[in-house]
Amino acid sequence: MTSVTLENIVKHYVPPIGAAETHPVSGLDRVNIRIEDGETISVVGPSGCGKSTFLKVVAGLESTDEGKIFYNKVDVTNITPQARGVGMVFQDYALYPSKEGEDNLGYYFEVRKKTEEEKQQRLRETAELMGIGFDLLMGRQVDTLSGGEKQRVGIARCIVREPNVFLMDEPISNLDAKLRERTRTEIKRLLKKFSITTIYVTHDQQEAIFMGDRIAVMRSGRIEQFGTFDDLYYSPANLFVATLIGTPPMSVIPVTLQNGILQIADASLTVPAEVAEKLPEGALRFGVRPEAWSVVNEPSSALTMSVARVERLYTERAAFASGQIGGASVNVLVPLDFPAEAKEIFLQPDWTQASFFAADSETALHTPGAPELF
Ligand code: ADP
Ligand code: MG
Repeated sequence: MTSVTLENIVKHYVPPIGAAETHPVSGLDRVNIRIEDGETISVVGPSGCGKSTFLKVVAGLESTDEGKIFYNKVDVTNITPQARGVGMVFQDYALYPSKEGEDNLGYYFEVRKKTEEEKQQRLRETAELMGIGFDLLMGRQVDTLSGGEKQRVGIARCIVREPNVFLMDEPISNLDAKLRERTRTEIKRLLKKFSITTIYVTHDQQEAIFMGDRIAVMRSGRIEQFGTFDDLYYSPANLFVATLIGTPPMSVIPVTLQNGILQIADASLTVPAEVAEKLPEGALRFGVRPEAWSVVNEPSSALTMSVARVERLYTERAAFASGQIGGASVNVLVPLDFPAEAKEIFLQPDWTQASFFAADSETALHTPGAPELF
């Protein structure tokens, strides 16, 4: 039963002697976050943005330069990783390869001088939690296991210790695509069962969305936004979040707004008054997601997109047409039977789903907010 709070955390790395840069690397740059008890959050962002640093600081494996970390109300900033009671699973499994699965789990009890009875009891509970087939893994030597099986043992090894907080750093990015999908479903099932506070790090936005109750988007040592998928998708804090979340991504088109008329390339669209009144006049950036376009028959009051290609996703029962409007790349969700030979299509945006950003910064000026589903 542990909530985790980071208050104003700053972590600088000093580059190694001889490194090209002379100033310290900002690993974490004023990070504030509160992760509720039992919640699974994902941390997502490009390589080098500070995700692993974030986990290490929560675990106590890296010191901080400023700020405080709390587990519940206890200040753990200067407490050792052992005393914090975290379980970590990394991309490289960090198991003892020549030992059997069971010994990998049992090692902890030897170190902690627990009785054989306590050990067997806890191992039984863990195997039960881990579910079908886990008993079989326990008897096998680790280097004979597949990547996905190793990660199951890795997770079990954390669970056996009854951690306060569970930290996972890109645990499945080494697996091939099919196994990755299966393993992430398995991990999610386990996390739901454990209800241990979990921080799950990944560079893959789809994985982040799948795993996290809430998602923290990081860039350059900062948390750009922390919220549910709906928050990030419908109310992105800025252009970075808006274009990171969503596949294919939101299209962003340079426009000019004057007297309620939006000038896009050589077309003009009338913006509904309730949207226009929230926006400044002049140069802006107009953000539209693939599903927020309608294909229309007439070029009047529509934008013309030159179609570069049509991609069909049979598994999703959908297709995407991509092309250009006014020099910006645009993706449009179209029906599966959309003609492959289409060279030009006419589009109208759904104004209730459109976003606007400043022309000269990434600031969001207007976002649609989540639709009401019920
Ligand atoms: P991520 O996990 O998101 O890829 P990291 O947290 O590993 O990012 O790294 C964040 C930044 O800190 C990067 O610029 C990285 O090069 C730098 N960094 C990480 N660890 C060290 C270290 N031990 N010494 C110096 N710089 C480091
Ligand atoms: Mg990393």
